[in-house]
Amino acid sequence: METVELRLDEIEDLARSVFERNGCDADNANALARTVTTAERDGSVSHGLIRIPGYVASLRSGKVNGAAVPKIFNRTPAIISANGDNGYAPLAIERGIPKLAKAAKQLGVAVMALTHSHHFAALWPEVEALADHGLVGLACVNYTPAVGPYGSRQPLFGTNPMAFAWSRLNKPPVVFDMATASMAIGDVKIAARDGHAVPSGTCLDKEGNDTTDPNAILDGVLLPFGGHKGSAIALMVELLAAGAIGERFSYEAAEADNGDGGHPRGGEIFLALSPDLLAGRDWQTHSEKFLRKFEAADGARLPGQRRHRMRISDQMRLVNTALLENTHALK
Ligand code: NDP
Repeated sequence: METVELRLDEIEDLARSVFERNGCDADNANALARTVTTAERDGSVSHGLIRIPGYVASLRSGKVNGAAVPKIFNRTPAIISANGDNGYAPLAIERGIPKLAKAAKQLGVAVMALTHSHHFAALWPEVEALADHGLVGLACVNYTPAVGPYGSRQPLFGTNPMAFAWSRLNKPPVVFDMATASMAIGDVKIAARDGHAVPSGTCLDKEGNDTTDPNAILDGVLLPFGGHKGSAIALMVELLAAGAIGERFSYEAAEADNGDGGHPRGGEIFLALSPDLLAGRDWQTHSEKFLRKFEAADGARLPGQRRHRMRISDQMRLVNTALLENTHALK
């Protein structure tokens, strides 16, 4: 694979100019470019430059509003409503998080319901932003059906990620951000393209048999991670990110979508908790004792650590040459 070295500011400039030339106003283009760049910065390349064609497809088809003006308001003191105005999620999230954090700090707990938006990215940026305020952050999002409930061969759940962040003193937060599917769809597609097998337990073929052939997913179904337990969490994500906030379930999102290859309209729910109010002032010292035991456990590492190490490494990133050319061609 041929690669070329780019600085992060070059990646951001490129992303911004592609978005601006495909119908985004400055605020939306900047927010999207930051999302792409932070993904590349942290080595979350599956949500960096590689996503730009999908973003552009939905801007060009008119499904997504590139000049969206998110409407953020308090529905009650503890409930923030963020209507994304049919735009991409990053701008609404950037504008909503400060209000959510303020409410959680005052009340101990607050929720934000993001609706009428298209979320095509990783979830860790939003929960980390809550941890930066000294809060615990939780978020989840649904998608379109690809994953069968445990025991079934019928796709009903999206890959339905959820993310959690825990604030630490003078250290990066503890963060996990994970799909509730056994494998991300993108990874299954890459395995099919490259002729690699996927692990047993990833998907079922159309007869319902376990298969390691990634092509079988085309007529078959992806499995939730961890059997019935992962299936229960994927179910919870559907109910929280759609049922609880009045947005579309994954099957409804697929039915309403125009199939342009971009992300369908959907919702995201955010929960922010203030340990200052829930636990009292020494919560961080207390929790650090536990985290130090975790870190001392032989072979264990905290989730989020791989990304945070990437973040403090140098500012140059290796980008696939073909991907870079394709991205330039979208300008
Ligand atoms: P991974 O399985 O790669 O990682 C999940 C989590 O586990 C990460 O927080 C990771 O931390 C942590 N982790 C991985 N390996 C270890 C280890 N050995 N020890 C401890 N922790 C570990 O992620 P997924 O493939 O499930 O998801 C990838 C991304 O896709 C997510 O960001 C998710 O939000 C996104 N996504 C977005 C969707 C959308 O619709 N917007 C849909 C589906 C997925 P670390 O990063 O430090 O390795």
